[in-house]
Amino acid sequence: MAAMTVTRDLTSLRASRAAMRGRVALVPTMGALHAGHIALVAAARAVADRVVASIFVNPLQFNAASDLARYPRTEEADLAMLAAAGCDLAWVPAPEAMYAPDRATAVTVGGPAERFEGAARPGHFGGVATVCTKLFLQARADVAVFGEKDWQQLQVIRRVVRDLDIPIAILPVPTVREDDGLALSSRNRFLMAAERTTAPLLAREGFATASAIAAGADATAVLGAAMARLAQAGFGVEYLALVAAETMQPLDRATEPARLVAAARLGSVRLLDNWLVA
Ligand code: AMP
Repeated sequence: MAAMTVTRDLTSLRASRAAMRGRVALVPTMGALHAGHIALVAAARAVADRVVASIFVNPLQFNAASDLARYPRTEEADLAMLAAAGCDLAWVPAPEAMYAPDRATAVTVGGPAERFEGAARPGHFGGVATVCTKLFLQARADVAVFGEKDWQQLQVIRRVVRDLDIPIAILPVPTVREDDGLALSSRNRFLMAAERTTAPLLAREGFATASAIAAGADATAVLGAAMARLAQAGFGVEYLALVAAETMQPLDRATEPARLVAAARLGSVRLLDNWLVA
């Protein structure tokens, strides 16, 4: 296997990209990599001849400066994990390489970006859409790989790509979980020991509620009961909602392809998860 190249400026990224033959896959990340990210690299390798992974903690998508400041940065370990996973090129731009001080252009998204994370984190999806559009154009990849862990983000990216005619396919990868069900996340390391013990309850309630709704239970009733149990266990539930899988519009009943989406605080950590309703 050839050694992985690490590029930090756009000129050398473009040169490396131009030398690549065949189908190129892009895996956008913010670093602090875990097995969920590596599953994306594996999926990328399965569909492409060359894999580019980006590591960029995008200031535009953080609505709280404190969250940006404490976001974990583990670049050395990240690069080792990417190389071991068979990534060909790591694109690791500094913020100055990504954003000109006088930049005046951004991507804004309505529709699937409006509710849930979009409402809880003003500006977040605009920041995600802007950076992903730039990454797609910088890497000129044929396919970009995203985790279902961030379900709403996946729908937002699909809409951006469709609406702006960006010639890239979007490949979703199922959420990678700990054995106890907790979805892997770079922020899980901030859970205190007692919180870590409680955390898998979110996934347990999510899976159980999703299958109850799929089996015909009254959604309002089972969602209310699950939220009450989570609150009792110490979660600050922001939402646990049944939505149309693509548009993210709230649903009363799973009459079309549907997803259960959740955000809940546990201590200082905001956990995000979602489940198929089928
Ligand atoms: P992040 O570095 O958190 O911005 O995530 C980068 C990519 O990894 C996104 O497409 C996420 O959806 C994906 N991802 C994060 N956690 C997981 C997970 N547990 N399983 C699958 N994909 C994930």
